[in-house]
Amino acid sequence: MQPLLDVSGVTLRYKTPSVLVTATERVSFEVNTSDRFVLLGPSGCGKSTLLKAVGGYLHPSEGEIRIKGRKVTEPGADRMMVFQEFDQLLPWKTVLDNVMFPLLNARKMGRSEARDRAAAYIEKVGLTRAMNSYPHTLSGGMKQRVAIARGMAMEPDILLMDEPFAALDALTRRTCQDELLQLWEETRFTVMFVTHSIAEAIKIGNRILLLSPHPGRVKAEVVDVEHASPTDGSAGRLEREIHELLFAQDGHGE
Ligand code: ADP
Ligand code: MG
Repeated sequence: MQPLLDVSGVTLRYKTPSVLVTATERVSFEVNTSDRFVLLGPSGCGKSTLLKAVGGYLHPSEGEIRIKGRKVTEPGADRMMVFQEFDQLLPWKTVLDNVMFPLLNARKMGRSEARDRAAAYIEKVGLTRAMNSYPHTLSGGMKQRVAIARGMAMEPDILLMDEPFAALDALTRRTCQDELLQLWEETRFTVMFVTHSIAEAIKIGNRILLLSPHPGRVKAEVVDVEHASPTDGSAGRLEREIHELLFAQDGHGE
């Protein structure tokens, strides 16, 4: 069966005036429909770079990325992004208009259809009462919920999330993680989620890809995450195992 997303031997480099930075080296993985695929690794290992390449914003210097068999060459409505930063919403538009904006522009929907769709997704993230508010009046957690509603309303093939909860306080972060899982239970959308937190990776993912630091290479894949339970201690064991895998010396010099 063809995977939904096929990342094959992808090397990503940045050219700066003085040096060529290799952010990731020959990274390969596949994401299947309804996966909660987590990319986990320490800061600077190329997670955001990889996610941007899947988004079509960066081009591999080696290897290729395919979505439903089509080669990714540019950004598209089939891959929506949610970022860590709270400023990803348009400040001069209300919550409703922010969520409607890509529906009108990228999906070319009529206004009333876009409005209904946007309102439905705003309800899913529990923000119906804030529909006519402007972003500056919302908390960080509310802004991230709007960004998630905007991404999901487009019903993309894959939702790309780059540490969306990392800048939230611990309690809000936990609530947002729970809500994301709740939304996933409802619609089983495919998500690729980037984090540097092992605990978050275990909570969110059904599959976790571990990247080694600089340049990012695939270190291991943890497949059976679903059965790690926080109550019987198995999640704690998995957390320790992942920690060891991530920080084991592998001869590449870290
Ligand atoms: P992560 O998201 O895992 O923290 P990034 O993908 O942001 O890592 O960065 C991977 C590597 O690429 C880092 O060494 C970073 O310094 C470098 N890098 C990221 N963006 C740029 C850029 N625009 N120009 C040059 N180097 C960059
Ligand atoms: Mg990053």
